[in-house]
Amino acid sequence: MKIKKRDNVMIISGRDRGQKGRVLRVLADKNRVVVEGVRVTKKRIKPRREGEKGQTVEVPQSVHVSNVALICPQCGEPTKVGYRGQGAKQKKRICRKCKKTID
Ligand SMILES: [Zn+2]
Repeated sequence: MKIKKRDNVMIISGRDRGQKGRVLRVLADKNRVVVEGVRVTKKRIKPRREGEKGQTVEVPQSVHVSNVALICPQCGEPTKVGYRGQGAKQKKRICRKCKKTID
């Protein structure tokens, strides 16, 4: 996955285009990410006991990873992620715009 948890990303397509947020969760098997504040739907929870009030909770829906761009922490631009180095340990993500390494 090119996107990791806690990355800042921007939505680059679909109806949420232009929105920015932090990645809360990565669903690697589905190639989807959950981005804070993006595509939040409200869900009603029914009262479980008599006398309790129902609640509304906000549940962010996942977006496909191809619809997000990483915001480079170095240059602040939404960018494509490249790689530098070989092998699982040496391989580093790099920003295609400023060519700096991203953690
Ligand atoms: Zn950059």
